[in-house]
Amino acid sequence: MASITLRNIVKRYGIGPKANQVIHGVNAEIQDREFVVIVGPSGCGKSTLLRMVAGLEEVTGGEILIGDKVVNNLEPAKRDIAMVFQNYALYPHMSVFDNMAYGLKIAKVPKDEIKTRVDKAAKILELGHLLERKPRELSGGQRQRVAMGRAIVRQPQVFLFDEPLSNLDAKLRAQTRLEIQKLHRELGITSLFVTHDQIEAMTLAQRMIVMNAGNMEQFGTPEEVYHRP
Ligand code: ADP
Ligand code: ADP
Repeated sequence: MASITLRNIVKRYGIGPKANQVIHGVNAEIQDREFVVIVGPSGCGKSTLLRMVAGLEEVTGGEILIGDKVVNNLEPAKRDIAMVFQNYALYPHMSVFDNMAYGLKIAKVPKDEIKTRVDKAAKILELGHLLERKPRELSGGQRQRVAMGRAIVRQPQVFLFDEPLSNLDAKLRAQTRLEIQKLHRELGITSLFVTHDQIEAMTLAQRMIVMNAGNMEQFGTPEEVYHRP
């Protein structure tokens, strides 16, 4: 388990006179096991911030720590994170079990350990009875849960969610939101969740980071953010 520390994070895209600074010095500390939502209008820098934590985007200035380790120069695979995206492409020719197990197989995790981890994730996500099915034999919600299962089995220190609900219809969105809350309750993994949807942010967040035009405008509980005097 681990905290995430953002120390004066700056991001510029491009170099020289054409450089475009999109993050202007963000400081925040997400505590171990905390669920923090980054919310704000389109283009304010949410996704850039998340991708820097994931190691998918270089940091221009400042430091990112996971636990007490500076990760600025660590490749994604070495950061002990798992990411859940809105486009959760599953391997169509593989069973649910194999979809969840695939990354672990590549990482040469022993077979019995893989089975233990996949079975545990399947139990949490109520996929136990579907392990032999192919993705096309699943509902949209079940597929989304397999995608989450694939992230869980990696046993990451940190979960990063990049608008994972935005392609779902309203009913499935509500259902998956509950699923994510349950997951966090049971596993207690430090989570950073990006969305432009304020309702989603309010219902999921223990604390929320409100971004605007590359600046962190607020960082607090939903009550603190929405009921300021
Ligand atoms: P959000 O996730 O809040 O919608 P982004 O982090 O995607 O915002 O984008 C923040 C700003 O950075 C926007 O102005 C966007 O156009 C710009 N941007 C994002 N990705 C790139 C990129 N790869 N190259 C140049 N500019 C980018
Ligand atoms: P592997 O299963 O070995 O990770 P993948 O093709 O699934 O191989 O992933 C390629 C790269 O993307 C690896 O560096 C891996 O660590 C990273 N990666 C894969 N899935 C995720 C995820 N859910 N979150 C974060 N990084 C991931």
